[in-house]
Amino acid sequence: MYDFEYQRATSTDDATSRYSAAEDARFLAGGMTLIPVLKQRLDQPSDVVDLGDLDDMRGISEEGGAIVIKAMTTHHAVNTSDLVASKIPALAHLAGTIGDQMVRNRGTIGGSLANNDPAASYPCAVLALNATIKTDKREIAADDFFTGMFDTALDEGELILSVSFPIPEEAGYRHFPNPASRFPIVGSFVAKGSDGVRVAITGAGPCAFRVTEFEEALSGGLNPDAIRDIKVSDDGLNTDIHASAEYRAHLINVMTRRAMGE
Ligand SMILES: Cc1cc2nc3c(=O)[nH]c(=O)nc-3n(C[C@H](O)[C@H](O)[C@H](O)COP(=O)(O)OP(=O)(O)OC[C@H]3O[C@@H](n4cnc5c(N)ncnc54)[C@H](O)[C@@H]3O)c2cc1C
Repeated sequence: MYDFEYQRATSTDDATSRYSAAEDARFLAGGMTLIPVLKQRLDQPSDVVDLGDLDDMRGISEEGGAIVIKAMTTHHAVNTSDLVASKIPALAHLAGTIGDQMVRNRGTIGGSLANNDPAASYPCAVLALNATIKTDKREIAADDFFTGMFDTALDEGELILSVSFPIPEEAGYRHFPNPASRFPIVGSFVAKGSDGVRVAITGAGPCAFRVTEFEEALSGGLNPDAIRDIKVSDDGLNTDIHASAEYRAHLINVMTRRAMGE
């Protein structure tokens, strides 16, 4: 690990001020990604601004037909929330599939979305549920947020405050886990809400994406048979030691049917 200045923020305003005043800062949330990156000397920030004391960045509530999850809420808190389980059970289920118990106890929804790992679990839920990401500067629609591998619409120093998930009529999530890390090799989230059916995939490409062929085929309802014969192209999908692009394309169909209860 290279040397850096460690700072503890006392409020969200204090966090963004400390960030701006530093030469090249990083926010620290659960540290499940940032700390290993620093330990491996893959990044060399001048300052690390710890958000750990900001209790007003934690919590889950229901507001105007949506479940609002604050950025520092851990995966464990989402997984075990009675409110999430009653309103969007698929989201509680997804949070419970992330990594292992230690990762879920420390890792946060804000850190996961800001990091935008190609295999991160939350992005497909954010896209399929048509969520809105609220930052210290603005609100960003899910469709505009994920811009590439480890890349998002966030500006330098922009702090995620919360994510608002409209409550769907029906939703489901299934993933095919990497047996070592538990990250999804392919994960599919299907949601039927006021703006129709949305299907989003994580793990298969450089970042999460929607599958419009499936969405059109499912406009009559969440029926696995409606997509059974649709072959998703493997163009642009990831190939690595875990799975080829062709296999990932196959899994997209299988996981989406399973997300609908098959
Ligand atoms: C063994 C292992 C298995 C895992 N398996 C999975 C899995 O199956 N699915 C999955 O989705 N993830 C998985 N993860 C990643 C885990 O979910 C992390 O929690 C997540 O990627 C980062 O969240 P964090 O709170 O730890 O963020 P940190 O590591 O603290 O920060 C990550 C990045 O986000 C930035 N950041 C943090 N909070 C904010 C904010 N509020 N606003 C703006 N920027 C912010 C930081 O500056 C940093 O660049 C795994 C991790 C490990 C170590």
